[in-house]
Order: sequence, then structure tokens, then C-alpha cells
Amino acid sequence: MLRTYYRSLKFLSRSVIRAFGKFPRECPLCGYRGKFLGYGYPYVCDIYCPKCGSLERHRLLALADREQHFFLGKDVLHFAPEDAVRKLVLADHPKSYVTADLFAPNVDRKENIEALTIEDAAFDVVICLHVLEHVNDKAAIAELYRVVRPGGVLIAMFPIVEGWEETYEDSSKSSANDRLLYFGQHDHARFFGRDARVRLAMPGFVVEEYTAVEPHVSRYGLMRGEKVFICRRPPSGEMSSANVEQKLKAILQK
Ligand SMILES: [Zn+2]
Repeated sequence: MLRTYYRSLKFLSRSVIRAFGKFPRECPLCGYRGKFLGYGYPYVCDIYCPKCGSLERHRLLALADREQHFFLGKDVLHFAPEDAVRKLVLADHPKSYVTADLFAPNVDRKENIEALTIEDAAFDVVICLHVLEHVNDKAAIAELYRVVRPGGVLIAMFPIVEGWEETYEDSSKSSANDRLLYFGQHDHARFFGRDARVRLAMPGFVVEEYTAVEPHVSRYGLMRGEKVFICRRPPSGEMSSANVEQKLKAILQK
């Protein structure tokens, strides 16, 4: 048994060394070139840009934006705003930029994402990264659909277990310790499975995906296979229920 502890400690010491990076990376947000740092709890090595503080998900969004130019000339709402993404949006010259959060200071609007005080169809783009795993996602997604204009887009990211067909959630797991054990963080309410696409599509969004693939993963320090979910509200407004059903079937068959 002592031997296994010794082995485990050996890996721990290697991880400490790797915490300061091994390979040079490139940050598409700030242009930094060099090693990334470790971040988070549980600690993940080699993911944190020392210049702008971007993480894997922020860099993936920046790469998606390079191709799709989400924000240029648009009215943008940003939930739980991260500095790195805030800079990305502002550099793209949006028409307007509004930040929102229920708890964070220094935001433009104090908003509960499950019951927004924002009028219908107020924004072209809504950004919502790593929020939906904390809240009642069905209520939140319906609200986000309501405030996105027809032809507009919700950009969503969250932890997802692609090996699971269905999202795992259990309201009886409510203590901080239970949530850490079952959902990976003390304030998470679920681990999404592949059905996250259906949950996003429920109010009428058409869901597209931008995936972290090579050679971008190695070059920019991304999480392999991570997804940006690009949820488009159809330009004609509400989809017919038959149309929604058809879209859901297509998503489920993927
Ligand atoms: Zn950076």
C-alpha cells in the first residue's frame, strides 16, 4: 500500500511541475505566445493564459468568432461576464454591450436568468458561458429565447458528458459536498448529457456546434472536443410545432 501512495505522490510532483506548462501555446484573445498556467479546482494544468486570464472555453469562443463574427454591429447581452470575453466582444465593435448577473458586482443589470426583466426580442446576441449548469436550465433557456431577436443567436457553453445520453440531475443532491461529488462543483445542479442539444432546442432554437479540434487544440490550448453551442432563433419568429418536432428528431438521431 505504501508503494501505491509513493507512486501517487510521484504523479503529484510531476503535475506540480506541469502546472507551469510544458508546451508553448498561443492565445487568440490577447496574442500571448508561451506557456499557460494551471487553474481551477480540481486543478487543471496548462490552461490559463498568464497575460489575459483566458481559459480553454474563452479561446474556443474566440476561434468561433474569428469565423462567424458574432458581435459586429450587434446588440449584445453577456451573462456572468468574463473579462477575456468582454474584451473579445468590445474589440468586435458591437452596436451595444450590456452585462448581467444576479450576484456579480459591476454589471449593467442585476438579472435572474430564470425570470428576466428584459423585454422580448431585445438583443441580437446573448452570451451565456458556464451558467446553465448552475440554474433551472429549462426556465433559463426559455427566457433567453424570449429576449433574443428573430434571426439572433444564443451562444452557450457548459460542462457536458458526451458519453451520457441523458443529463444527470437530482434535486435531493443539494448540499455543497453532494454537488461537488455528483456534479463536479459545489454550486452545480447537473451534468449535461448529449440531450443538452434537445434542451437548448426546446423553445425553438436551431442548434449548431463549433468543436475544439486539432490542430487548434494543441496550438491554442483547448479542451479536446469542447463545444460552443450556437443557438439560432429562426428569422421568421416562432417555429411551427411540426418544425420544432422535426428539428428535435434530427438532433436526437445525431
Ligand atoms: Zn491571453
